Amino acid sequence: MTVLYTNIRELVTNDPANGDGDPLGIITDAALVVDGAKIAWIGRRAEAPDADDRISCADTSVIPGFVDSHTHLVFAGERSAEFAARMSGQPYGAGGIASTVAATRAADDATLLARVQLLTDELLRAGVTTFECKSGYGLTVEDEVRSLRIAKAVTDETTFLGAHVVPTEFRDDREAYIEMVSGPMLQACAPHARWVDVFCDRGAFDVDEARHILTAGMAAGLDARLHAGQLGPSAGIRLAVELGAASVDHCTYATDDDVEALAGAADTTVATLLPGAEFSTRARYPDGRRLVDAGATVALATDCNPGSSFTTSMPFCIAVAVRDMNFTPAQALWATTAGGAAALRRDDVGVLTVGRRADFVRLDAPSYVHLAYRPGVPLVRDVVTAGRHMAYPYQKVESRS
Ligand SMILES: [Zn+2]
Repeated sequence: MTVLYTNIRELVTNDPANGDGDPLGIITDAALVVDGAKIAWIGRRAEAPDADDRISCADTSVIPGFVDSHTHLVFAGERSAEFAARMSGQPYGAGGIASTVAATRAADDATLLARVQLLTDELLRAGVTTFECKSGYGLTVEDEVRSLRIAKAVTDETTFLGAHVVPTEFRDDREAYIEMVSGPMLQACAPHARWVDVFCDRGAFDVDEARHILTAGMAAGLDARLHAGQLGPSAGIRLAVELGAASVDHCTYATDDDVEALAGAADTTVATLLPGAEFSTRARYPDGRRLVDAGATVALATDCNPGSSFTTSMPFCIAVAVRDMNFTPAQALWATTAGGAAALRRDDVGVLTVGRRADFVRLDAPSYVHLAYRPGVPLVRDVVTAGRHMAYPYQKVESRS
């Protein structure tokens, strides 16, 4: 079954071979053909082949589905009171995670799964067609395994984050916790995870501890990613580069040496910026342009979590990145699509070319620039994921012509 999507005013492919060699690879007056789950043809509308079915995109913009490479969706409860207190002047610290840990441990599987499915729906409605999901609110062997099982129900990109914080019951013996995370907890979780991650920052884990845990995770067959440089300058960014981690996330306080290291590792380690975290903690934003100009590979992700960034909206992240992090609209769109795919080492998503997965989004706008130009406006009209056209109760799928 083939479907022709036509009358696309502006098609962003992220394939520089298209258009004028720009990284977004824009084709104007475009069309594409989907065959099953994959893209079978892409090009100018006038040259489009016949297909079994035909959908008009009504002269709007089509972009690759967003790839959200950093979320924490498996949790119970919420922390709006903490957010309100912070907006009244209280500082953010890693300690608030403990309240979510307590709520998550107390919740049954059905409650956790229902929450994950709700957030997955939100992501999809906002145009996210691939996402990563971390554990890290269980922090016992049993609760971490359970978190990863639940994450696995909604994505293959699951990350073991037993090293999120040291839980309260290990406050006086953090070494014992680190041995558990890199020993029995890791062994129990590895079959359910693709990635291993550590929250390497003030109040969480230091660089030596992160090295120990990531190295153990890699020995267990997981690939590394790392939270570093959110709350202050950190040697964690260079640790991620040294270990060949797929991504180092936050990088808010990256130094010139860090930027140089990330540029040198552009084919291996992506710098993933998380604007929702700075927004929700009223913290300084990192300078995205500085990383892009140096030659680093840069991604943007939501960091969806109940404490420091409770958003599932990549368009929101784009708007903030453009307004406050010196990204151009084009750089921000690339970072939320092809950049996210690079951060997950995926070569089947994030770019629209023949043979890749048919994951794309039609915007209610003539250009992708509207994602930043019209902040807060729900511009995601239709979402196609692996060739399936998703329609929502409040959105009408374009009538076929
Ligand atoms: Zn995070």
